[in-house]
Amino acid sequence: MQDSVSGQIADATAGKAMSNESLRLGQYWPPSTLYVVATPIGNLGDMSPRAITVLSAVDLIAAEDTRHSSSLCQYFSITTPMLACHEYNEAQAADQLIERLAKGQSVALISDAGTPLISDPGYAIVRRIREQGYRVSPVPGACALTSALSAAGLPTDRFSFEGFLPAKAGQREKRLRGLSQQTGSLIFYEAPHRIVASLTAMVDAFGPDREAVLARELTKRYETITDGSLASLLAEVTADKNQQRGEMVIIINGLAVTEAQRSEQELAADQVLMTLLSELPVKQATGLAVKLTGLKKNYLYNRAIDLVKDTS
Ligand code: SAM
Repeated sequence: MQDSVSGQIADATAGKAMSNESLRLGQYWPPSTLYVVATPIGNLGDMSPRAITVLSAVDLIAAEDTRHSSSLCQYFSITTPMLACHEYNEAQAADQLIERLAKGQSVALISDAGTPLISDPGYAIVRRIREQGYRVSPVPGACALTSALSAAGLPTDRFSFEGFLPAKAGQREKRLRGLSQQTGSLIFYEAPHRIVASLTAMVDAFGPDREAVLARELTKRYETITDGSLASLLAEVTADKNQQRGEMVIIINGLAVTEAQRSEQELAADQVLMTLLSELPVKQATGLAVKLTGLKKNYLYNRAIDLVKDTS
């Protein structure tokens, strides 16, 4: 094995073993670099040639689960030594990686699947290593959230990745309620044993008609990407135990802009009504609110009655 990536590149440029796309594209491989390397999320065909090159050439691979990653490395004939780096020892692992970087070596970080740091360990390591002034370089590849979004047919111009929802029902509902007015697409990771509970909570928070997609087992044999209203997805998943298996991503369409605007207008109308109701009876407050907001009399009258009830 080479002493460092730069050593291997030197060999390669001297016409030895390695010929790969990255070299032809002229990538610069400085020493003392942490490479953050994406690995497949199910289909080994998604391992990039550059990921194989980097993992073969670095001096050490920090892996979330060394046993799991050993099979991947074996498959691609990568023999680089590994260091366990999971959420409970990140600080300690960072120290060991920094020691290597200080000697001019290069190291790589991988997780069990997909892109490290995306609902996976690595954040503390990347932050520490950058703080120490070392170079951190991504080797991009598979990621469940971008894979799901790319095939879902829901808006991609604005989206927010929400990761895993809290396991406790109350916290989960609160988080979802807080997201119900967002207009960009919302992306969640979910565990199979919680999918029915989460979809049920989503129907409550976003309404049964909100458009959504459930992307399961992406890149694998039983991949399914199902779209429909939240209520229809919940019905389908509840009725079919197979849909409750495997790895899954849920994407929910954002609140339609017109609906969001309406909500804002309604909130503003509530403010106006509350001010007027503190001084006037319902009928008069409604009459003035019609003039001030331009909203329909019936709507404002019913809203005024509700507000009076809420405050009494
Ligand atoms: N770092 C990974 C990435 O880049 O997507 C995510 C790791 S996180 C611990 C695992 C979660 O990602 C799963 O519970 C599931 O929600 C999602 N996931 C991973 N692989 C998937 C796949 N093949 N199909 C659908 N979702 C997947």
